[in-house]
Amino acid sequence: MMRPLALILFLFTAIFEAGAEPTNYSCVVCGKGPLHGRIWMSKWGAVCDVCYKLENHCSLCGLPIGKDAVQTGDGRYICKFDKPNAVLDAGEAREVFTEARRELAGLFGSGFALNYPEVTVNLFDVDYWSEKGRGDGLHKFGFSHTRRSASGQCTHEVVMLSGRLRSELAATAAHEYTHLWINENCPPGRKLDGDTVEGICELAAYKLMEARAQLEQRQRILDNPYTHGEIKKLVALEKENGIAYILNWVKNGAAESFEGAALAVPALKPALTYTNVPPPGPETLKLAGLLLDGQHRSAVISGELFAAGETRDLTLQTHRVRVRCREIRRTEVVLEVDGLAGPVTLKIGEERFVP
Ligand SMILES: [Zn+2]
Ligand SMILES: [Zn+2]
Repeated sequence: MMRPLALILFLFTAIFEAGAEPTNYSCVVCGKGPLHGRIWMSKWGAVCDVCYKLENHCSLCGLPIGKDAVQTGDGRYICKFDKPNAVLDAGEAREVFTEARRELAGLFGSGFALNYPEVTVNLFDVDYWSEKGRGDGLHKFGFSHTRRSASGQCTHEVVMLSGRLRSELAATAAHEYTHLWINENCPPGRKLDGDTVEGICELAAYKLMEARAQLEQRQRILDNPYTHGEIKKLVALEKENGIAYILNWVKNGAAESFEGAALAVPALKPALTYTNVPPPGPETLKLAGLLLDGQHRSAVISGELFAAGETRDLTLQTHRVRVRCREIRRTEVVLEVDGLAGPVTLKIGEERFVP
């Protein structure tokens, strides 16, 4: 069930024909060089075959872990390249949250400020992979929580996963902040569709990534199946009507979702909102990289090594899928995937959601 993180996340950006002749590449993990024989190309440079087989890997990029790495409280490693951009302490997480919140208020207007502005922000550690044993199968990046007193006063709290990149944490901060705003502004007794709420929170993260010109992250939000497609509808709705329309709908609308014309059944609004956004990784087919060894060529697809012509059943987060590797080209593979129409071409580092 569990696959090595490295194979899922290792982002290969280039390949070259590695023969027996020494190259002018050195291993970015151990420094050894010049390298020859089997060589992997990572986003940070060449990795020797010895280091490629190391047991521990960076939880962010999949690079094998040598010296100069840090570890989160729950034992995840972060490589020397990602270390400067990873958020490991609560003070920094608060900064990221405050920046995201300020930018969102700038984008969405003063109506997106909180009436009860105090928000407690903390980081949490969690053993990412042992979570799989807990049944829900979701990895949590953030939680938000609003407690409303009898007199209607709100107390807000947000916790976010430690050891993630600042830019990714900002997207989570935007998502969680939006939950707090909805908690304050959705009238008591009004029921909202869960996917719609998550979609609105993801829309805020999407808009923040757009404003920051982080288009790859914006695309990941759009492709993430977490909201069951609501994010795409909301992006279209926002484009057509503006964000004010959506925020006003939360405050004054009646339907449970943007489609539902029916009046909501009055229900007690839970005091506690509990959210999570699973990372898209395990639901995707990903070409992590190609391994060239002389004339022999194989592809690492979602943690499994494929030769051309091979068929395998891959285990994704919630289901298994049969994949046939039709062809391995110089920088891409051509696959036949059950459930996806037509041949699927994946470039190195590229991933595709599988329904
Ligand atoms: Zn090495
Ligand atoms: Zn890394």
